Amino acid sequence: MPSPTDPQVLQVLLIEDNPDHAALVRANLSRTLEPLAVGRSKFDVTLAGRLDRAIAILREETHDVALLDLKLPDCSGLETLYQLRGASPRVPVVVLGGDDDDGLALQAIRGGAQDYVCKDRLAHESLGRTIRHAVERHRVELELHRRVREVEDGRRRLERQSGELRRRAEQLDRVNRYLDDFTCIASHDLKEPLHGIRAYCELLLEEYSHRLEPSGKRRLGAMTQMCGQLSESIDSLLTFCRVGRESRPGAVVDLNAVVQETLRTLAPAIERRGGVVRVANRLPRVQGDANLLGMVFGNLISNGLKFNESPRPWVEIGRQDGGLAGQPVQIHVRDNGIGIARSHHEAIFTIFRRLHSRRQYEGSGAGLTIVRKIIELHGGRIELESEPGNGSTFRFTLGGAVERTGQPPHWNMPPRETSAGGSQLGWEHEYLS
Ligand code: ADP
Repeated sequence: MPSPTDPQVLQVLLIEDNPDHAALVRANLSRTLEPLAVGRSKFDVTLAGRLDRAIAILREETHDVALLDLKLPDCSGLETLYQLRGASPRVPVVVLGGDDDDGLALQAIRGGAQDYVCKDRLAHESLGRTIRHAVERHRVELELHRRVREVEDGRRRLERQSGELRRRAEQLDRVNRYLDDFTCIASHDLKEPLHGIRAYCELLLEEYSHRLEPSGKRRLGAMTQMCGQLSESIDSLLTFCRVGRESRPGAVVDLNAVVQETLRTLAPAIERRGGVVRVANRLPRVQGDANLLGMVFGNLISNGLKFNESPRPWVEIGRQDGGLAGQPVQIHVRDNGIGIARSHHEAIFTIFRRLHSRRQYEGSGAGLTIVRKIIELHGGRIELESEPGNGSTFRFTLGGAVERTGQPPHWNMPPRETSAGGSQLGWEHEYLS
């Protein structure tokens, strides 16, 4: 006799106390199940004459399907089905009813039966097909439940992970704020004694210079200069930590106005350098902090003109995204300067990291660190495309555009004197074409 766990055998548990009915079922199964038992070579029927016996069997053995008579010596009616389903929910049940009663059949299905077959029809109906469908439906149901459970588990896992991420982000935020506070306080406290030292150096130079050797004067002069540099670095540090503490990037900011204002401030330096700044197309309005965004443009423009050996230094500002409201805004600031080797692309965003001496190019080395902090504060990222001798392009994103823009090129730089003495706009189409 095949074992109940033999995968080649379809295991049927027939719960029926009437031997004639049991014989009828067996005959139907032999006639209709064998040819349909796809993938299974045979079927095997275990007979249980009572419900408690059937439940005991199902606890011990695995069956593919149970055929359940609703009139048993120890239980009757739908209660039989409920008890069986309660004890063995993983076995599909086909109810064998005495009456051809649609209402009862419906109740049986609602109570978890896969199907309802009236015994009077056993002579004509294919119990084999009913069983095959019941087993398949049940398999699909179980699979569905398994998937729903998996999705549910995944959702819970994601919820836990996102909660954990939120906690970590808050923790990080607290640590960052603490570091910013610490940097601000430390920088602030360093400034005062430094001012004192510098003032004493200057006093010594002014009032005691007649008593000093030339080398002493030179050293005092160097000390004064170093104090100035240190003070500049401390100012940069203060700016850097204030960016995180005092910014409120929530207002609607028109980047055209921001750039215009920045250029107004930079105009004397641009003119001194004989540079040209061009805005390639209309810039969007974004949510942000106008002062901070002004610092971004200010730093990138002045760097583009400063680290530049071209006889006609230029900087181009433009928008690269599709101009749709809500889309992240992409801006580029490009120059025809000395360029930056790929190996330094990350390092230049580190505070006080400079690639040249102050004698070559002045500066404190904090500008790009501040720029990156501001951009990240606005939910964006900054990237660099550059190589020595071929200029640099800084591209950055900012949250979402506030409105649709996408108008033709437009410019707004104050006029400057040309070398020929005439006045022209600070950008030239042909210059970059
Ligand atoms: P700073 O301008 O005060 O030196 P930054 O943080 O703005 O400091 O820049 C860091 C370094 O990156 C600069 O010292 C310079 O070597 C390099 N750099 C920045 N911008 C450019 C640029 N547009 N072209 C070439 N090199 C640049």
